[in-house]
Amino acid sequence: MKETKFGTKSIWAGEKDSLAFGATQVPVVHSVSFGYEDMDEWYEVAIGNKPGHIYGRNTNPTVQAFEEKVRILENAEASTSFSTGMAAISNTLGTLLFPGDRVVSIKDTYGGTNKIFTEFLPKQQIEVMLCDTGDHEAIEREIAKGCKVLYLESPTNPTVKITDIKRMAKAGKSVGATVIVDNTFATPVNQNPIELGADLVIHSATKFLGGHADALGGVVCGSKELVEAVYHYREINGATLDPMAAYLLLRGMKTLKLRVEQQNKNAQEIAEYLKGFELVEGVYYPGLPDHPNHDIAKTQMKGFGGVLSFAVRGGVETVRQFLPQLQFANRAANLGSVETVVGPSRTTSHVECTPAERAAMGIPEGLIRYSAGIEDIEDLKQDLHQAFQAIHTTVQS
Ligand SMILES: *Cc1c(COP(=O)(O)O)cnc(C)c1O
Repeated sequence: MKETKFGTKSIWAGEKDSLAFGATQVPVVHSVSFGYEDMDEWYEVAIGNKPGHIYGRNTNPTVQAFEEKVRILENAEASTSFSTGMAAISNTLGTLLFPGDRVVSIKDTYGGTNKIFTEFLPKQQIEVMLCDTGDHEAIEREIAKGCKVLYLESPTNPTVKITDIKRMAKAGKSVGATVIVDNTFATPVNQNPIELGADLVIHSATKFLGGHADALGGVVCGSKELVEAVYHYREINGATLDPMAAYLLLRGMKTLKLRVEQQNKNAQEIAEYLKGFELVEGVYYPGLPDHPNHDIAKTQMKGFGGVLSFAVRGGVETVRQFLPQLQFANRAANLGSVETVVGPSRTTSHVECTPAERAAMGIPEGLIRYSAGIEDIEDLKQDLHQAFQAIHTTVQS
């Protein structure tokens, strides 16, 4: 599969070993355990000398096909999966961090990840240093003081900031840290953190990988040694991906390239289009030349992704009037699906913060996250246009 192109891989990769009865599609294997008549064979599988499945909390054929497909798309040696993206993140950190360890990360990680850093890890005597996301020198200074884990996410949620993964991974490696990158926003279509020096890549498969907002899941890719350690933690702690969810994610991934390329295009056009509205006071998208890290994004990404955000004049009141006007957008706490999804940051990613905390993080109260779907761009533009028109008379700018 190495020489095969991405789109072909996303369709064919990882499925062969999980097919049965001549079926061309991977079956949903709803079996908790796997039986053996030969006690020696059972033993050989159980101790890992022979391939096979024993118990659903550990492995399952449908789940395995999903893991294999992501592994091949991320060009990794190994991969393992989880019930959700947060399970992937918490199990990975749980595998690597012990009392007395130190982790360096950024302030703009996903809301749940940020809670792990600020609420849970400190209770286990793990020191967490969260740096300003755009400040590469500050991150390097903190890495140089020593850390067990360097945890990155790029682009970030919701202001789509970009971190130079290659530069940070190099700094992390130089102090012996395990470098982790949450690649959810970029997807393997747009960015391959392992090629940029990351040790482990994490996805919330719930978002772009599945792409249809109908299944939760998470995945971790990396070296065999690291992934086996994370897998062992997960098989014991039990955050296993369900076979039905694995099936839906696997099916969604067949169109990953088509979807993400369309979402890249739509997001770019929407970002440019939004700049023309009087009520829009700022547009955040790494594909815009005025994005502070547009050049870094251009170097490390093949496409700028399907998510952008924009701030409207008049803050919360404008958001309250504007969002209900949209016809072709789900107002929901999700992203990466085939439908366009919108939501105010104060309700979605940063609902736990006070207005002052959000302001300190550079998140205006009128910020809207826009995850472009795969609809026709003319309709999405027209939808935004009519929504702004509809509130034009009631909102004082
Ligand atoms: C949604 C998300 C997660 C968490 O994933 P779940 O599947 O909801 O647990 C982690 N990181 C990023 C960047 C996300 O967008």
